[in-house]
Amino acid sequence: MEVTFLGGAKEVGKSALLVKGRKNQIVMDYGANTGKEPSFPMHVKPKEVHSVLLSHAHLDHSGGVPLFFLRDGVKLVTTGLSLELTSLLLQDFIKLSGFYLPFEYIDLLTMQKNTERIAMNDERQVAEEFTAKFPSSGHIPGGTTIILENDGRRLLYTGDVNLRDSQLISGMDTDFGEVDAVITESTYSMVDHEPREKIENDFVAFANEVVERGGVLLVPAFSVGRAQEIALLLRAKNFKHKVAMDGMALKTNEILFRYQEFLRDAELFRKTMENIEVVSGWGERKRLIRTPSVIISPAGMLMGGASVFYNQSLSQDQRNGISIVAFQVPGSPGRTLLDRGMTLVGGKMVPVKAEVRRFDFSGHSGRTELFEMLSRLKGKPKVYTTHGDGDSCDVFAKQITEKYGFESQAPEVGDKITV
Ligand SMILES: [Zn+2]
Repeated sequence: MEVTFLGGAKEVGKSALLVKGRKNQIVMDYGANTGKEPSFPMHVKPKEVHSVLLSHAHLDHSGGVPLFFLRDGVKLVTTGLSLELTSLLLQDFIKLSGFYLPFEYIDLLTMQKNTERIAMNDERQVAEEFTAKFPSSGHIPGGTTIILENDGRRLLYTGDVNLRDSQLISGMDTDFGEVDAVITESTYSMVDHEPREKIENDFVAFANEVVERGGVLLVPAFSVGRAQEIALLLRAKNFKHKVAMDGMALKTNEILFRYQEFLRDAELFRKTMENIEVVSGWGERKRLIRTPSVIISPAGMLMGGASVFYNQSLSQDQRNGISIVAFQVPGSPGRTLLDRGMTLVGGKMVPVKAEVRRFDFSGHSGRTELFEMLSRLKGKPKVYTTHGDGDSCDVFAKQITEKYGFESQAPEVGDKITV
């Protein structure tokens, strides 16, 4: 099979691969860069594609998928949970950026109608000459890696992966069997995360500290995954005070209730969500900012959603706290808060008085885990490094060759390889 890197090569964003067999073509992920004016991977004619395989719901992997469904004819293959979470994120994407997008809500419905929903670890024929297997990726609920097989050759595409368990989901499944080539993410190939247990304990200690001094802790968090992870963590560590959740994260909860088989501890999830305060209106928000508690609210980078209101209301009192628990894109309000201690209140940039702390709750493997994943590969596959900023893809490729003797390279967008 021949693989073309349509996007996500030497960059984080708009991941996409085109795989050509003798008769059929398959696309794996087709993401978007979700800036003010979104951009998409290299163009592929939908009528030449048999199916699109989607690793997980994040928009940098799924944001361009509706482009294949402007009419019927293509099949989407992904887990039922990924389909629902993708639909949720795409609806929001259309609402925020609709004017710039080359698809609309109706195409989302065509996409849903043409989806083959699979269970985790299913093996399927995805085109006449292709079969694919979808083991869990440990990255977000519903997410998988993809092992694509054609003519006796096997390609592992990792999508985004996390080797370690989190509160919400179990770590990735590394039972790959023998593969001829690997296309791996490289997001944190240059850095290690702090030990998870330490991050978790530090976070819960900070939450206790803020609430016990009469303050409110705001946790701006992405709706899918991180918001639930934080709520579950507080419950698992016996946090005794009020925890409230707001915005689109609540819609994610509703979806996860229907897909509990994807969760690491469904019982913990149920108990957590039954005890959480569901915020549903402005009266409640205004009451909440005066009640010592933890408020988990999208958007994760303070770029919209109710977290903007909470941030404005809470940032000017030193008893309060703001926990940054996700990566903050340079230029985002969350990044400005972290780097400069400044935030927008009433249209003016002002210093933040609340205590701001960052906790590295990543959904990605760090450097040690990425190497550990590769060390579990059987045989001598060729390794292609993608989904990394700056020169991290190049450096990672070089280090893989030095460490394991695998032939390895960091492809550019537009490059083609043969597996
Ligand atoms: Zn992701």
